[in-house]
Amino acid sequence: MDIRTLLRDNIRSLAPYSTARDEYEGELGIYLDANESPYENGYNRYPDPHQKALKRRIAEIKGIAPEKIFVGNGSDEPIDLVFRLFCEPGRHNAVSIVPTYGMYKVAAAINDVEMREVPLGADFSLDADRLLAAADSNTRLLFLCSPNNPTGNCFPTATIERIIRTFHGIVVLDEAYIDFAETDGFLGRLDEFPNLVVLQTLSKAWGMAGLRLGLAFACEEIARTMGRVKYPYNINVVTQRIVLEELRHGIVGQVDEIRRERRRMALALAPAPTVRRIYPSDANFLLVEVSDPQTIYERLIEAGVIVRDRSRVPLCEGCLRITVGTPEENDRLIEIFKNLQA
Ligand code: PMP
Repeated sequence: MDIRTLLRDNIRSLAPYSTARDEYEGELGIYLDANESPYENGYNRYPDPHQKALKRRIAEIKGIAPEKIFVGNGSDEPIDLVFRLFCEPGRHNAVSIVPTYGMYKVAAAINDVEMREVPLGADFSLDADRLLAAADSNTRLLFLCSPNNPTGNCFPTATIERIIRTFHGIVVLDEAYIDFAETDGFLGRLDEFPNLVVLQTLSKAWGMAGLRLGLAFACEEIARTMGRVKYPYNINVVTQRIVLEELRHGIVGQVDEIRRERRRMALALAPAPTVRRIYPSDANFLLVEVSDPQTIYERLIEAGVIVRDRSRVPLCEGCLRITVGTPEENDRLIEIFKNLQA
């Protein structure tokens, strides 16, 4: 598949903005080229627009060449960018599953792109044929999220693989929660699929939601083109610096604890009077079906615990989405549930 033919014409021929840092790349000297303030305070200079040090470190951690990495202001930036790269507003369309992460549909609407939503099965299973059948010759993007938010499940590798191989456009596979799953995801197989964009984020297992750093991994053509279309200085100096420091520490201990707590919470909540069902989860949250979601949501708030009411989401009727917290926070939640009467 020639990815260039999928790019919008105006993007293929785009002359990107050239920053002062693009025109002189040395490290030493007196910088009088970018109309910055000369008074050093740690952030008076513009950041590296290409985030080279950061990408080198992420490349080491993930085992992916820096040229195949795009870093964005959260995952929302690459989600928006794929529409701007590949979809002619008012003409092209995209396909996604439902329920899933809400931002794909919002980004589609902002870009005036029709989103065709294909429901999962009642057991949250993925029907590849139905999904592929929703696409036509104007479909440029297909969104998958595995583990999926809010259902919490991973989709089978073979099904995802078949979709990537069969679909004639770009498959965006959101792996925001992959660190909590048993499977490795698709990053190690990126080179097999030129039409695959894998999204990951530092907001979940890495604990940096406040710094806003989303990752997209794709073939060089796509990663480079995203870099040409983004705002020149999309990742600020402070975020680049702190993320680099934070990436020195591993996350294995915390991820293990979240997984253990996920299991413990599921076992402890299951017998509670108001709990009807707890779905298996590969993520850092549990989808819990309860007897009366609105009332329970409010009772939890009264007790000082805020969860997400997903009961109006298709296929999630009656469900609350509960993030796994610290052991103490989870103890508190379990205690409240034990005392709630159906
Ligand atoms: N993808 C999924 C599936 C998510 O659930 C979320 C956040 N809830 C995101 C992406 C957003 O991540 P970020 O903080 O990197 O924008």
